Amino acid sequence: MNLLKEKQEVRDIVTQARARGRSVGLVPTMGYLHEGHLSLVRQARAENDLVVVSIYVNPTQFGPTEDLGRYPRDLERDLSLCREVGVDIVWNPLEMYDSGHRTWVVVEELTERLCGISRPSHFRGVTTVVAKLFGVVRPDRAYFGQKDAQQAFVIRRMTQDLDMGVDIVVCPTIREADGLAMSSRNVYLTPEQRTQAPLLRRALMAAEEMVATGERRVATIRARVEEVLAAATLGRIDYVEIVNTQTLQGVEEIGSESLLALAVFFGKTRLIDNTILRIS
Ligand code: AMP
Repeated sequence: MNLLKEKQEVRDIVTQARARGRSVGLVPTMGYLHEGHLSLVRQARAENDLVVVSIYVNPTQFGPTEDLGRYPRDLERDLSLCREVGVDIVWNPLEMYDSGHRTWVVVEELTERLCGISRPSHFRGVTTVVAKLFGVVRPDRAYFGQKDAQQAFVIRRMTQDLDMGVDIVVCPTIREADGLAMSSRNVYLTPEQRTQAPLLRRALMAAEEMVATGERRVATIRARVEEVLAAATLGRIDYVEIVNTQTLQGVEEIGSESLLALAVFFGKTRLIDNTILRIS
């Protein structure tokens, strides 16, 4: 496995691989890897000849009062995990933006809903850095988690709108045994908050059950989700939304496929989770 710091080194290796007809898969991460990240890497490993993992805590996707400074980092541990799952290249950029950087990639509308309301500049940072990663690696496929459903949706839109020619692969959410979606940010939770955090998943499951038994009214389902979340006495709901999976617009009735997404603050730690509600 190669650990690279410079864009040009990554470009050179990937260009050589492509010239030999090898396909390239990219897994963008902010490091502090867990089983959720590794599931993306395993899928990339199964589908590509060369697997590149980027590890970069991207400052432009953090708001001014967010956790950039204390975001957990452990490069040594990340590298040994990457080695174990057969990564070819870890790209841990020294520098991503030069001082003259003035260009931003903005996906309109879709980024103004759900997480975009409490994190107004977040997606602009995400799409810009992902466009830059794509520009250097020029992958055939890039892997993202369903856990960040809006992010995956926005990136797919960007890729299509800008004709980037990268196939966006979205992989299922990986959870702890008690249902909490894995996240690098889970380490921020106090033991008491950690005990309550699985209520996010339980709230999603309550909604799934209602839909399975015929409920279609979004207001009724949302009320039940909020009721389950209310048991998380240390939590504060940021949003609970049920939206069309194609437009991310709110709906009043569950369609054949709707996205139920939620975000809950535990202290300063904001947890997100989601499920697709399907009428079978
Ligand atoms: P991050 O390092 O948090 O930026 O995440 C990097 C990638 O891993 C993103 O595409 C996330 O959606 C994905 N990811 C994070 N947590 C999970 C999880 N629990 N299950 C599946 N994918 C995940």
